[in-house]
Amino acid sequence: MAAHSQFVPAQGAQSGGADRPVALLPGLDKELMDTSANACVNFAQYACGNFAKLYPIPADMPSYGSFYIIYDHTEAVVHGLLDKLTDKSAQHTPDEQKIGDYYGSCMDEKAIYAEGLKPLQPELNRIAAITSRKQLTDLLAHDQLLNVNAFFTYGEQQDSTDATRQIAFVDQGGLGLPERDYYFRTGAAAEKTRQQYVEHVGNMLHLLGEPADQAAADAKKIMTLETALAKVSMDVTSRRDPHSIYHMMPVAQLAALAPVINWTGFLSDTGVNGVADLNVATPDFFKGMQAVIDSTSLDTIKAYLRWQFINSIPGYALPKPLDEEDFNFGGRELIGQPEQRPRWKRCTAATENALGEAVGQVYVASQFPEASKEYALQMVHDIEAAMSQEISNQTWMSPETQDKAEAKLKMVADKIGYPDHWRDYSKLDVIRGDMAGNAWRAAEFENRRELAKIGKPLDRSEWITTPETVNAFYNPPMNDINFPAAIFQAPMYDPNATDAENYGHIGAVVGHELTHGFDDQGSQYDGYGNLKNWWTPEDRKKFDDMTDCEVKEYGNFTAVDDLKVNGRLTLGENTADNGGIRLAYNAFLADAKRKGIDLTAKQDGYDAIQQFFLAFAQNWCSTERPQYVRLTVQTDGHSPDVFRINGVVQNMPEFGKAFGCTPGQPMMPVNACHVW
Ligand SMILES: [Zn+2]
Repeated sequence: MAAHSQFVPAQGAQSGGADRPVALLPGLDKELMDTSANACVNFAQYACGNFAKLYPIPADMPSYGSFYIIYDHTEAVVHGLLDKLTDKSAQHTPDEQKIGDYYGSCMDEKAIYAEGLKPLQPELNRIAAITSRKQLTDLLAHDQLLNVNAFFTYGEQQDSTDATRQIAFVDQGGLGLPERDYYFRTGAAAEKTRQQYVEHVGNMLHLLGEPADQAAADAKKIMTLETALAKVSMDVTSRRDPHSIYHMMPVAQLAALAPVINWTGFLSDTGVNGVADLNVATPDFFKGMQAVIDSTSLDTIKAYLRWQFINSIPGYALPKPLDEEDFNFGGRELIGQPEQRPRWKRCTAATENALGEAVGQVYVASQFPEASKEYALQMVHDIEAAMSQEISNQTWMSPETQDKAEAKLKMVADKIGYPDHWRDYSKLDVIRGDMAGNAWRAAEFENRRELAKIGKPLDRSEWITTPETVNAFYNPPMNDINFPAAIFQAPMYDPNATDAENYGHIGAVVGHELTHGFDDQGSQYDGYGNLKNWWTPEDRKKFDDMTDCEVKEYGNFTAVDDLKVNGRLTLGENTADNGGIRLAYNAFLADAKRKGIDLTAKQDGYDAIQQFFLAFAQNWCSTERPQYVRLTVQTDGHSPDVFRINGVVQNMPEFGKAFGCTPGQPMMPVNACHVW
C-alpha cells in the first residue's frame, strides 16, 4: 500500500531552471490574481489567472506551479549545503563526507564521460553469460537489489491484515512505458508514443554496442514482450482497491504460478531466508509472466534484460550520448519538456535520493526553527478536533460506526518536521569518482535495509520521507500523517501571514492528509493500520453513494482535448481535497475564536474568509504542458490543479457565501457533493 502524497512532483524533478527567481510567495499574492474574472464562475482563474504570465513553464520542466516555487527555493538551499560539503580539505562528519563525495562524483561530468561504458560492462557481461532460463533466478535477484525491476517488482511491506508484521511481496512490473494502458490506448497520440518508444529502445541498445539493425529488431521484440506483460498487468484504477493487490500465499504456491523462477533461491539471494509466505500482489500477472518467458526466445529475454538494466540507470550516471537519448524520449517526447535540467539540480536530487536523512539532518539544523514545529502542532491538533466534530456531525452514520471512526482518529500519529532517530549510513560506501558504483551501492544499501525488516517487529517511528521534501503524506498501514520540515515555508506557512492565509495554505494540506485516513481507501484500514472493515454494511453503502457524487463530478471535467479526468482513479485525492478544506475551514474558525480575530476585518481588500479561500486556491496555481497532462491523467491519482481548486470550492457553500455567489452559478451548484 503506497502512501498518499499531497501531489506528485514532475518526473522526479525537484525544480526548474537556474535563473528563475527563488523568492517565496507571500500568504496571499495579489499579483497572481486575475480580478477581471468572476470568482463565482471560475475561481481558479480569479485566484491564479496571472500565474502563467508571471511564471511561464521553464524549458527544463513539464509543468510549473506554486509548489515548484517552494521546491526551487529549497533546492537552492540544499544545493548550497551540498556544495560546501564537497570541499575535501574541510572538517566533516562521516555522513557529511559521504554527502560531499556523492554529490561531487555526480557533478564530475568529465570523469563520467571519460569512463564511457566501462562501469556498465560487468553488469552487461552478467546478462551475456546467461545460457538457460534456470539462470534467471540469480540474475533477477541481483537486478532487484540494483533497482532493475525486470519482469516484476519485489520488496518489503506491512502485512495488510496484520500491520505489525513485515512481509515480502512480489508485484507486477517490467514495463518501460509509464503504465499498462500506454500499450493499448488507441488514437494518434498513443500510437505515436509507442512508435517513439520502440525507436528509443533501439537507439539505447545501439549505443550499448549492438549493430543498428540488430538493435532495431531487438527493440521490436522487446515491445512485443512488454506488451504481453502489460496484457496480464492490472490497471492503475483497479489497483486502488487494497484487496485487489493482497494475496498472501506460501512460497510454493507462487512457485506453482511461475516455476521458471526458483523463488526460495531468489529470496535467499537477496538475504531473505526462512520466509513461509508472502504477498503475491497480482497472481494473474505471475501466471502470465511464466507464459511470456516460456514463449520468448532466450536471446530476446537477454535483449530485454539489457534494456531494463540500462533504463534503470539515471541519465546523469551515463555517458553523454546515452544520457541525451534517455532524455530525448523520457523528457522531450513523453512529457513535452524541451530541455534537460542543469546537472547540479539532477545531482542535488540524486544525493537526496541516496542519502536523504543524512542530507535532512544538515538541512534541519540550518533551516527548521522549533517555532515552526510548535505552530504546526497547534494547527494539527485543531484540525484533528475539526475531524472529530465532522465525524459526530454525520447524521447518516450510525453511532457504532462513528465510535469506530473516532477511535481510528485518536490513533493517528503526527510526524512533523524530522524523525526522532536518524538513519545509520555507516555501512554505505561512497567512493569519490565512481558515480555508477555509488548509485548501485546506494540502491543495494536501501533495498537490503528494507528487506532486512522482513520478519522483524515494526518500527512505528520510521519516516517514509526526508525532512527536505516539499510534500506531505498519509500512510494507511502506519495510520500516520507526515509533514516534512520543508513544507513549513511560505506561502504554506509564513509567520508574517494572517492566520486565515496559513490555515488556507498548510491547514488545507494537513486536512487533506488526515482525510486520507477516511477516504474510499483509507477507510478500509483500522487505527492499527490493518485492512479490516469497521463499518456497518448500511453505513458503508451510504458512504459509497456519497463518494459516487465526487466520481461523477470530477469525471465530467475535461483535462486536455478529449481526455476527461478519471473520477475513480482520483476519488481518494478528491475526497481528501474536499475534506481537507472543510477541516481547515472549521479549524480556522476555532483558531479565530480563540484569538479573537475579527472575521470581517479586511486586509488587501479581502476579509478573513475570503483570504482563507484565496490562499487555498493559490496552493494550486500552475501551468502544464499538454503531453504532461496526458501522462498525469492516465497515471496520477491527483486531479489536474485547476480542478483541485474549482472542484473543491463548488462543494463548499461557505465559499459561495463569502464571495457573494448565487446558487446555480458554477462555483455554487445546487447539488454539491459532501463526503467529509
Ligand atoms: Zn493526497
